[in-house]
Amino acid sequence: MKNFGKIQALIPRTLCHIENPIELDVNYEGFSPVEISWQNGLVSDIKSINSETSPSQIIFPRFVESHSHIDKSFSWKNFPNKASNYYGALKSNLEEHKTRSVDNVKLRAEESIKLAIKNGYRAVRTHIDTYDSQDERIWAELFNLQKKYSTLLKIQFVALAPLEFWGTDKGEILAKKFRLNNGVIGSVVVPPFNANKLLRSLTKILALASRYNLEIDLHIDESISTKDVGLRVLLKTINKFDYKVPITCSHLSNILLLRERELDKLCISLAEKNIKVVALPLTNFWLLNRSDKTNKMRPVAPIKQLQKSFVDVSIGSDNVQDPWYPFGEFDPFYLMSYSMHLLQLNPWDRLTLSAIISAPSRLLNLEWDGTISVGCPADFVVAKGDSWADLFSNNLQRSVLINGKWYVE
Ligand SMILES: [Zn+2]
Repeated sequence: MKNFGKIQALIPRTLCHIENPIELDVNYEGFSPVEISWQNGLVSDIKSINSETSPSQIIFPRFVESHSHIDKSFSWKNFPNKASNYYGALKSNLEEHKTRSVDNVKLRAEESIKLAIKNGYRAVRTHIDTYDSQDERIWAELFNLQKKYSTLLKIQFVALAPLEFWGTDKGEILAKKFRLNNGVIGSVVVPPFNANKLLRSLTKILALASRYNLEIDLHIDESISTKDVGLRVLLKTINKFDYKVPITCSHLSNILLLRERELDKLCISLAEKNIKVVALPLTNFWLLNRSDKTNKMRPVAPIKQLQKSFVDVSIGSDNVQDPWYPFGEFDPFYLMSYSMHLLQLNPWDRLTLSAIISAPSRLLNLEWDGTISVGCPADFVVAKGDSWADLFSNNLQRSVLINGKWYVE
């Protein structure tokens, strides 16, 4: 199959690096018309084009999903959470564990992977429920899938276990295994909690990560409580023992409800400790603070305040058709379009695209941050249209280029 080609398309200006930027036209929505050529899987040339008629397609780098759960996607049908709140989701999730088998996890994960590739993702970080009574063959099967699809999609696993698990022998064995597989260890910190007990548990997971040189990704503060803020205890633990472990805080919803001065202080501490944040608007707006009245308090990670304090924030999808969120299908355009109004972001702003493209690339430690330039991978999603409205409306038609070759299912 040939491995060269070229395409004329519009590109969001901030996603394109070109030798002579003066030549580049930028339209009212931040798109620039370019011609991109590639050879042997890499971009070989980018030229500005100044034609009378604008190209009727828009090009993006393939996307990176910063937070998902491929082990439980599509379980909604059998484990619905009709109350649509956090505790209903947790209850259904624990029910699902009782029927969990190697085969059904494999089926759900593989369907998720195929959709992610088809819809335009190049890498995915996925949390995997991890617990004491779990069938250990599940991990072997997941590592097989990781290998099987490695040329199309980079999959990074986070073992999502109760905090106490990381203080046990089983936790130690899994951490050792994860060091070899470039994995991340994770857990959940959610109010109400006992701060002293939490500090002791966090100390154990931080010590374990430090011992095996692992990253930590916590589901933390997915809540409306401003009394118990897990982030405060996490920062206290880090300061007390001076751990230098890479940490990601997923959710951080309740901090939005803190007083402005306190929020500012926390944002500064996050930046100082180089703690990354993943904002998850879809599940937060679906689950948190459900009430029989339309609610004013809709907590979600305060992405703008965090970015202003130089915290690296990614926007992730979280759950797909499971007890935590009944919609979605691993589609970056679905996530992008909903994030715009839920978080009041402008798609033409550099920081918005940073949270969707370059921050997730950094989060997964990928070699390429998604900026299209000469020498970068010819890994694109090309969508029909010439405006953001075309991208965020229904019936989006897209093609996916992987290593310079058009992807065919
Ligand atoms: Zn999650």
